[in-house]
Amino acid sequence: MIRLVLLGGPGSGKGTQADILKQKYQLVKLSTGDLLRKETEKNTDLGKEARSYMDKGELVPDAVMIGILRKITAGFESKGQGYILDGFPRTVPQAEALLKMLEKQDVELSMALLIDVPEEELVRRLTSRWTCRECSATVSFPDGKPEDAKCPKCGGELYQREDDKEATILKRLNVYKENTAPLIGFFRERGLLERVDGNAVPGTVSERIQDLFEKKGIK
Ligand SMILES: [Zn+2]
Repeated sequence: MIRLVLLGGPGSGKGTQADILKQKYQLVKLSTGDLLRKETEKNTDLGKEARSYMDKGELVPDAVMIGILRKITAGFESKGQGYILDGFPRTVPQAEALLKMLEKQDVELSMALLIDVPEEELVRRLTSRWTCRECSATVSFPDGKPEDAKCPKCGGELYQREDDKEATILKRLNVYKENTAPLIGFFRERGLLERVDGNAVPGTVSERIQDLFEKKGIK
């Protein structure tokens, strides 16, 4: 049974790879949002507790998140249903709690898989999006926008939204690095970290991941 933590920066293609893995190995993908939604919708005690923080605009405490994860994964364990955690754990204390939870379930994490993409490439990917001033269509220019490029739909002027500008992107990447570097170290020290070169088209990255799974005897 596969129990996977997926790590990768914004623009790393982590979401795409999670979807491919989900299909290929019949896994359930769980993001923090998914976990919270599942539980708050069912209006369980944990769900209600989580909602009380969300309603105040506060972060749901780790203990509550792990409580939800424990409950959901216990159900998966009994059915032999593998899963991918995407966006959780986000901090070392969360990662410690996750491993403790797995230990109590008497099972092991398959791996923490880092989709590794150089920062320049992430910046290139994330700043390639332009938006039409007239019709709001978005266009991607992975090799840079030609100076005279117009909206392919209506011929309108293209501009870059604040979120897509390099300065904003660099800030986002810095936040990611600050949060994730300790997490990478945490999994590496425990021999759980695997790294896949993500600097390629999604199909190639996916093949690399499947090769790695094969090598590790994961199916
Ligand atoms: Zn347009």
